Amino acid sequence: MTEILLKNADLILTMDESRQELSKADILVRDGQIAQIGQGLESEGEEHDVSGCLVTPGLVNTHHHLYQTLTRAVPGGQDALLFGWLQTLYPIWSRFGPEEMFTSAQIGLAELALSGCTLSSDHLYLYPNGARLEDTIAAASELGMRFHPTRGAMSIGESDGGLPPDHLVEKEAAILDDMVRVVDAFHDPSEGSMCRVGLAPCSPFSVSRDLMRDAALLARDKGVMLHTHLAENDEDIAYSQAQFGCRPGQYAEELGWTGPDVWHAHCVKLDGAEIDLFSRSETGVAHCPCSNCRLGSGIAPVRAMRDAGVKVGLGADGSASNDNGNLMLEARQAMLLQRVANGADAMSAREALEIATRGGADVLGRPDCGRLMPGKRADIAVWDICGIESAGSWDPAALLLAGPMSVKHLFVEGRQIVRDGHITTIDLPRVIERQNTLARALQA
Ligand SMILES: [Zn+2]
Repeated sequence: MTEILLKNADLILTMDESRQELSKADILVRDGQIAQIGQGLESEGEEHDVSGCLVTPGLVNTHHHLYQTLTRAVPGGQDALLFGWLQTLYPIWSRFGPEEMFTSAQIGLAELALSGCTLSSDHLYLYPNGARLEDTIAAASELGMRFHPTRGAMSIGESDGGLPPDHLVEKEAAILDDMVRVVDAFHDPSEGSMCRVGLAPCSPFSVSRDLMRDAALLARDKGVMLHTHLAENDEDIAYSQAQFGCRPGQYAEELGWTGPDVWHAHCVKLDGAEIDLFSRSETGVAHCPCSNCRLGSGIAPVRAMRDAGVKVGLGADGSASNDNGNLMLEARQAMLLQRVANGADAMSAREALEIATRGGADVLGRPDCGRLMPGKRADIAVWDICGIESAGSWDPAALLLAGPMSVKHLFVEGRQIVRDGHITTIDLPRVIERQNTLARALQA
């Protein structure tokens, strides 16, 4: 039995059923799970003094393309719209291989961890030069991050009227075979799981109707989740109407892509009927506010989604469309965007934090994560509120209005992976150096 005790937190935001906020309280962790929360707790195990700190559940990232941390701020893609941006980057990504996938995933996940994230999904939809999903799983495992990788795919190349170049797409039979392989090898459905695999054809404009349907059938057969991009911008809606004769929501519903085991990234352009469909079917949404701003896609109707009862989580999205991987900044941006669209009372800092934590956990089918309650996983973010960002703050729970935007300590399944603002599990300076070497080679 391993215990750790977080002692004397100034404030704990539990995100439990009644959203309790506890002053001067402790958290006792036993074998990766929260055992007790309250005052005056004691333990024989390791003790951490967290006085002067705000404690929240670890943040949950519901959408990312970790490999893209190797293509941040690429000049030709800096100011392009979505489709033009993709066409700039495809030739660069086609030169990736296993080491690029591993290193970029480690950088992306470490960056997320420093911003308080304890559980991240990833959407890897291209596999050039021998790259495999397990390259990213190894990166997450070494870092100690809870990970939900998805086996993405693209099958319609340029010569078939799709967007990606032909050499970056795969045959659909091979995609389905590899989906079976990675689920069988790496998916762990148990409570407290550190790795759950999902199936994720890249988007309706890069795979066939058949693959969308077959992936949905396979996911249900295997009991894993489904993920893709949907209704990201006006071009996306126009493509759906021209190619499929319907809006994205209808296309998704017809192919089995709605339900509690499905979550869609972006959904910036969902209309009222689609919001209603997502609510009725318990389909989740990964809201990516900075990416939506960066690509000029628009403001997702998150207020309307939440009011309708749609499950919404946050996504950093790939670093080539953000290009920052700080999930706390995403939460702040989510709050600000809803205010731009609907007024200053449209979203509170606490609601944005709720979306970032238990909201994301619910989208990923993880009711065991995203809240600090006895019996839940010990994924815990500790924020130092004695620094310059918090000086003068009257309400530390309104973290997103002031700061800080990076953690002091971070625990995943009770294991400390950030201590005093530094990653403990990997040699980050060495990984950064390796990443820069790989990026220079791609530019050559
Ligand atoms: Zn994306």
